[in-house]
Amino acid sequence: MDKSITSSGAVLSRLPLRVRFASFEPAYGLLGRLAVRHGYSTSREFASEISLGIRNFVHDVENGRCLAELALLTGIPEAVIRASTRYVDESGAMFIGGELLHARDDHKASSAAGRVCPDCLRADLDEREGSMACRPHRRVWWDLTAVTACPIHGALLIGTCRACGGRLSRELASPRYCRCGCDLSELCSVALEPSDLAADRYLVGRLGGVERSTHALLDSMPLHIAALAMIRIGRASLVGARGLSKKGDRIEPAMQARMASLGYRLSASPLDTDAYQ
Ligand SMILES: [Zn+2]
Ligand SMILES: [Zn+2]
Repeated sequence: MDKSITSSGAVLSRLPLRVRFASFEPAYGLLGRLAVRHGYSTSREFASEISLGIRNFVHDVENGRCLAELALLTGIPEAVIRASTRYVDESGAMFIGGELLHARDDHKASSAAGRVCPDCLRADLDEREGSMACRPHRRVWWDLTAVTACPIHGALLIGTCRACGGRLSRELASPRYCRCGCDLSELCSVALEPSDLAADRYLVGRLGGVERSTHALLDSMPLHIAALAMIRIGRASLVGARGLSKKGDRIEPAMQARMASLGYRLSASPLDTDAYQ
């Protein structure tokens, strides 16, 4: 078997069991599916069992590091993994692939919660190939705090398990299940009005998940800043400028989607035709 020594000094070789590439899957999602493929329910158990020789491998992968090592293990090129993974470059700026998320590493831009779109999980089970356990996969935008809904299925992401009431986490390797065993692909999420999906459609479009729309003002901003601008413009319009400073940018998800989508339309120029559809 081919072995490679990485920059961290670890000796790694491609694992015999593989998973199929999944578009828009972040590195930690890929590691999770690899763990599932090898019969583990968490990435942590899997990583300690295969003795990589890298102390905080799971934590590093969660933060967009050790991608070369993950590429060696999975046989999926590092550049392909990086294209859908949030990482911080040498200058401290935060990216997903080539898309600038923030000029600095801002922990508020992403969340460690394990939100999912049940419709995406169902589509994975129905349409992907390979073992059923490895079909459901995460999308990188599920973990961005600015994104509240899945623009493909037009419904809010689910952050709480309906069976046990607990907040979903990424602790389990498969995105399909809650810690209580609930199958999240069987849940129904709250559908939004198409007009309230405009902001998420724009953000996910910048990441390539849906058709990209142009917006003269927002296109010039890092993704997370554009998201904050939409929320603040929408909120100022709905509740007035006094509402801006009270609770920071934390709002209930459906209201966040409405405010941000309103902000998207209000800040568009007459040339941004997508904003008026
Ligand atoms: Zn979806
Ligand atoms: Zn649960």
